[in-house]
Amino acid sequence: MPTVYYDADASLEPLAGATVSVLGYGNQGRAQALNLRDSGMSVVVGNLDDDYARQAHEDGFDPLPLAEAARRADVLLLLIPDEVQAEVYARDVAPHLDRGDLLCFAHGYNVAFGHIVAETGLDVVMVAPRMIGAGVRQRFVEGRGFPSLVGVHQDATGRAHARMLAIARGIGSTRAGCLECTFRDEATLDLFTEQAFGPAMGAAMRAAIETLIEAGFPPEAALLELYLSGELSYSLEKAAELGMVAQWELHSHTSQYGSMTRSARFADLDLKERMKAILEEIRSGGFAREWQAEQAAGLPVFKAAKEMMKHHPMIEWEEKAKKAFRR
Ligand code: NDP
Repeated sequence: MPTVYYDADASLEPLAGATVSVLGYGNQGRAQALNLRDSGMSVVVGNLDDDYARQAHEDGFDPLPLAEAARRADVLLLLIPDEVQAEVYARDVAPHLDRGDLLCFAHGYNVAFGHIVAETGLDVVMVAPRMIGAGVRQRFVEGRGFPSLVGVHQDATGRAHARMLAIARGIGSTRAGCLECTFRDEATLDLFTEQAFGPAMGAAMRAAIETLIEAGFPPEAALLELYLSGELSYSLEKAAELGMVAQWELHSHTSQYGSMTRSARFADLDLKERMKAILEEIRSGGFAREWQAEQAAGLPVFKAAKEMMKHHPMIEWEEKAKKAFRR
């Protein structure tokens, strides 16, 4: 059984008197900075002087240049996009941190795959919310929690673990539970969901839409039935709350019978073999090397794929369907 930490296991005391610098005021940065401040911590925001900085001003922070925020930090949360972290870390963060400072990530990727190698005198920890930034803030305000994966990569001071849990408690995550794992496992799980589970779901969705439209159903009806009504996402929410099998009871007997008896017809798809191959590619570091090379080359594949997506027929179908129904 993996270790899960709750409020009772985590004290804010290890960060008493510490300056917590949050670099980046985007999805996670804003939510975590606000939550930590509301938990009584002394929070400094580091950001370029632009729209995000204006938002930080509106929220009552006085944003500093990144390097200055790093210089003031006892604890630094690096909450900027993963693909720019290594460059920003080398230029604006590493030169300004002192021995004994703590560096915290919200995703294990860059440390796990060696793009950021922190100085040996630093504590390096991860508090990786399994929740988008807006939810991190909303749930905190509502007095609710959200789960995270947490881990210590480097413990130079002997206080890394306690300080990691203080951050997790300060952002409100230990209210729900923080599961301990390595940076590598967190990154692998996240990439696997994005690269195996997501595309497999997407392929099933595409096949279903095409089947219905080719059979003469209007796109509005097909999309509404499959996901635009929100019934699917509601069922998934219920699955998270009650369990995948238990939530079946919320559906009609016809639905349950049809689903159970037809499931076997899809059992022989070689989904698992493909997923295993993707998992192996992630674990070997092959994906991380490929993505590094893609970025170094100026993102040719990424840009071409985004361009293709712009012309996907789904966009027109969704527009029609969204016009037809109010949310
Ligand atoms: P965002 O894309 O929301 O980050 C935007 C912030 O990063 C802005 O403050 C922006 O400032 C700053 N930024 C962007 N580019 C640069 C740059 N080159 N130099 C300096 N600052 C820059 O990031 P997320 O919050 O989505 O992700 C942050 C971390 O949290 C990542 O590690 C991610 O994996 C993790 N995470 C994210 C989740 C989410 O909800 N999205 C969920 C769980 C984890 P400006 O543009 O002004 O420079």
